[in-house]
Amino acid sequence: MDSCLFCKIVRGEIPSRKVYEDDEIFVFHDINPARPVHLLVIPKKHITSLATSTEADVPVLGRMLVVANRLATEQGSPDGFRVIINTGRVGHQEVQHLHAHIVGGPDPVGPMLKQI
Ligand code: AMP
Ligand code: ZN
Repeated sequence: MDSCLFCKIVRGEIPSRKVYEDDEIFVFHDINPARPVHLLVIPKKHITSLATSTEADVPVLGRMLVVANRLATEQGSPDGFRVIINTGRVGHQEVQHLHAHIVGGPDPVGPMLKQI
């Protein structure tokens, strides 16, 4: 996707504070962190949202969660964290490339539906 912001980040055309990448996954710090730890875990392949994911995406979606757990611990949230995947209009998804927010830090992140 030529014009997609997160595809450009994966290609290095827009700078990011990269934390991790492998063949399938790219992880970077959110530019506007809501918590001391606020990572974005994305598939390198363009998937618009969880609402457009398919059975073929099961491996990459699983890998995103396993990597999220390891990086949250390494990046300063060893006692737990929250994973948020905003999806579509109702879910307030602003960037149209599937991404999981990993939010945490030393203190509890707050009520379930508090906006991040
Ligand atoms: P969402 O509302 O779930 O689509 O969230 C999009 C997230 O992307 C927001 O938390 C933004 O702060 C973050 N974001 C937007 N542009 C960038 C960027 N260039 N680098 C890192 N994070 C970004
Ligand atoms: Zn994309």
